[in-house]
Amino acid sequence: MSDKTTAALTRDDWQARSQALEIRTGAYIDGAFCAAVSGATFACVSPIDGRHLADIAAGDQADIDRAVLAARTAFESGVWSALAPAKRKRVMLKFAELLRRNLDELALLETLDVGKPIRFTRIVDIPLSADCVAWNAELIDKLYDEVAPTDPSVQATIRREPVGVVGMVVPWNFPLLMASWKFAPALAAGNSVVLKPAEQSPLTALRVAELASEAGIPAGVFNVVPGFGHTAGKALGLHPDVDMLAFTGSTEVGKYFLTYAGQSNMKQVWLECGGKSPHIVFADAYDLDAAVKAVGMGIFFNSGQVCNAGSRLLVQRAVHDEFVEKLKVFAAKMIPGDPLEPKTVLGSVVSQAHLETIMSHVQAAQAQGLKLEAGGAPVTPVAGGSYMAPTLFSGVENHMRLAQEEVFGPVLAIIPFDDEADAVRIANDSMYGLAAGLWTSDLSRAHRLSRRLRAGVVWVNTYDAGDMTIPFGGVKQTGFGRDRSHHAFDKYTQLKTVWINVG
Ligand code: NAD
Repeated sequence: MSDKTTAALTRDDWQARSQALEIRTGAYIDGAFCAAVSGATFACVSPIDGRHLADIAAGDQADIDRAVLAARTAFESGVWSALAPAKRKRVMLKFAELLRRNLDELALLETLDVGKPIRFTRIVDIPLSADCVAWNAELIDKLYDEVAPTDPSVQATIRREPVGVVGMVVPWNFPLLMASWKFAPALAAGNSVVLKPAEQSPLTALRVAELASEAGIPAGVFNVVPGFGHTAGKALGLHPDVDMLAFTGSTEVGKYFLTYAGQSNMKQVWLECGGKSPHIVFADAYDLDAAVKAVGMGIFFNSGQVCNAGSRLLVQRAVHDEFVEKLKVFAAKMIPGDPLEPKTVLGSVVSQAHLETIMSHVQAAQAQGLKLEAGGAPVTPVAGGSYMAPTLFSGVENHMRLAQEEVFGPVLAIIPFDDEADAVRIANDSMYGLAAGLWTSDLSRAHRLSRRLRAGVVWVNTYDAGDMTIPFGGVKQTGFGRDRSHHAFDKYTQLKTVWINVG
């Protein structure tokens, strides 16, 4: 249990704990850990300092087959799927409680795995995941089915049923939170789950599967198969006995899942993919300093590895130079540090390979002659780690690669605009449509633009606000479907109509 004492732990304390940590390394299938059928493993390396954390079972087709069979068997048995909603709720509330009780261990696993600051894994990733499980648990016994207003000679009911076996493939940027947005509503609805975490971040999913069993979720209902995308992920996408596949990740891989569904059993596919979100600052913004902070955090939080990162700053020419100067001051204060140091706000990026990808975007921008206002290079607060300095480029035009492609790092493209029409045109000129932010004192403009911006989420005079009660997701090639809120629940249930002749 976490308390004030653990909140006050120092970097050395977290280091000592990390040495003593027990890491689960097997796939979790049918209520038990097991090696991959092939015996293969992959190395789990911490981007904090390059240390080797563990060798994890590298699942592939054979392991996915085993997990899907376990999930199908559990589903058909009714041990979970046919349980009264109030009973599922009780088990899931215990599950949420176990996540909270193991907060420090889970936060440390997440921090070691992906280099997020421990202060954020402790107050964001793990608590919000627990809240998500509890919220969906509370929802499940408050939903009613419908009786249709038909002729009295029949009674027609419209029922929600669980979909069956749900496959989940998730990314590494918020490993447990993105997974919980999917497994919490899926489990609450009575489905059985096979989750494939990203190969960069398997650790919390494996521990959490064990906690699900401890809470009383029956064997086979919650399975986790770690492994690579082109093996385990693909096998899940193509599996003929998976009824639905919920994916969060890049647009490129999201499209594969549509193909997999077409090549196999036409399973339902829900996609939450990439973004290149515009953050628009009008000269009439009521508080430029507040806007600077929001724009800065909007791109640097989690080292820019956020699907809804405001990675394109659209700033009106009248305040452009002043705003960029203020942003440079903000960026200079955002110094990457050891994620195990509780004061650190900016940790590492997820891996050395990803750091190199980020740097390839930076180098291309420099080669194109864009003006580097800040950063532009890796830094080394911890030897052996993978860290990137907050980076600002000005003079960007929206057709350029830096404005069109997702960098997924702490790199901001600054684009000037003239007027409202110009801002809307530039903002919507993207294949993505996840989020948009705008800063203005003009209420009419706020209403107008919130309609005209093609995005699933629009923030006005704020950025990155979120809550379990509000759906999250995008349009265009960001995907479709929504996570969070009761709307997410629709993905994990299907409607059945039953006609009974009572005439
Ligand atoms: P990714 O697409 O590379 O990987 C995501 C998952 O897909 C991983 O589990 C991976 O193993 C798997 N995968 C990779 N190749 C596969 C293949 N050929 N077949 C089947 N599965 C495969 O994405 P990533 O780098 O892990 O995450 C970053 C991306 O996720 C960004 O584009 C980001 O915008 C997006 N994202 C979107 C949201 C959202 O809600 N819209 C949230 C978080 C992240």
